[in-house]
Amino acid sequence: MNLPGDEAFLQCIRCGLCLATCPSYRATLIETDSPRGRVALVRAMAEQRLPRSENYVDKFFRCLLCEACENICPSGAELAAILQGAREDAARNQLLPERLAQLDRCIASQHNISGEENAGRLIWADNLPAPPSGLDRKQAEIAYFVGCVGSFFPQSYRVPRAFVEVLEKAGADYALLGGLEWCCGYPQYIDGELFLAEDAIRHNVAQVRRLQARQAVFTCPSCYHVWKHVYPGVLGEELDVELLHATELLDRLLTEGRIRLGRLPMKVTYHDPCDLGRKSGVYDAPRRVLDKIPGLTLVEMAENRENAHCCGGGGNLESHNADLAREIAQRRVQQAADTGAQAIVSACQQCERTLSSAARASRIRIRVMDINEIVLRAMESADQEK
Ligand code: SF4
Ligand code: SF4
Repeated sequence: MNLPGDEAFLQCIRCGLCLATCPSYRATLIETDSPRGRVALVRAMAEQRLPRSENYVDKFFRCLLCEACENICPSGAELAAILQGAREDAARNQLLPERLAQLDRCIASQHNISGEENAGRLIWADNLPAPPSGLDRKQAEIAYFVGCVGSFFPQSYRVPRAFVEVLEKAGADYALLGGLEWCCGYPQYIDGELFLAEDAIRHNVAQVRRLQARQAVFTCPSCYHVWKHVYPGVLGEELDVELLHATELLDRLLTEGRIRLGRLPMKVTYHDPCDLGRKSGVYDAPRRVLDKIPGLTLVEMAENRENAHCCGGGGNLESHNADLAREIAQRRVQQAADTGAQAIVSACQQCERTLSSAARASRIRIRVMDINEIVLRAMESADQEK
């Protein structure tokens, strides 16, 4: 993507409505951290009134790519395209912040974000009550794409563990890709270096096709988003496999009566991950799942669904400016605490990581849980009720 032309810039009438919704601006109150300010910067640079510099580029990597601004803009400014275009322009001009450039190169060589041996992708499965039936499958109906965070960050192992236990109990015919799963390419894409991910994209799709899977399912909304919205453009064709976020599959399994839920008396609030909600339109499936749990009360935060406030982990901000990411996350945790809920439930391991650290740092007493953990608990409760 190139920088947008004059017409895109002129869409911004500088009304300032986006300021109230932008998490980075709300955290710093600095105009260049706002959507309106960022549009003005790109425009000044495109019109050669401002040189490209590290300082200029920094403003675009302080953005979460959460799209809250585009959602609210009354003038229809295409902010997502402008903000992504600015990052791609920075990468083309070798101005990417060094930590992000290093991360992108690490992914290209190691096939994951942590730089560890990619063969270790299934370590989270070690402590399951029984070895998953999805191991070493030659063919399966569903391919479960775990993603790097769930595979390599011990704090997030609980997400694939819980999801696999749910799949086992539901009798799903699924396969795990293990070391044959490569990073989905989302970090490189949002850093403006999609070209570094093209081999991985072809490789991942070939692995799912090898299994003759009819569905690919994702617990990570960023993997899901990039497969759905970016992969077809790289491949030059639509994918011949149905792509589902785990919450959509859970919703379907519940409708088909393959999951039985018992009582779970809890008051929870649901945090919409940006890549799943605003950027992929999946708002109802997770809420339908939670609504079906007997005894569970779902309360909404003041900013929810398309108006949800980012967890602070979007746009690779944590790798670029961890302090700003934490401040943004603390604001979201406070919104959750204001509902009186005992737990924030989300459907993204990255959101869960940023929100739990922020809750700990700000000493707010609220649990952060993944929706698969909640569903598994309700299934276990149903087993006990038998
Ligand atoms: S809401 Fe839209 S038009 Fe108004 S300042 Fe923000 S980007 Fe510009
Ligand atoms: S994408 Fe999010 S963080 Fe970036 S400018 Fe828009 S509202 Fe602000």
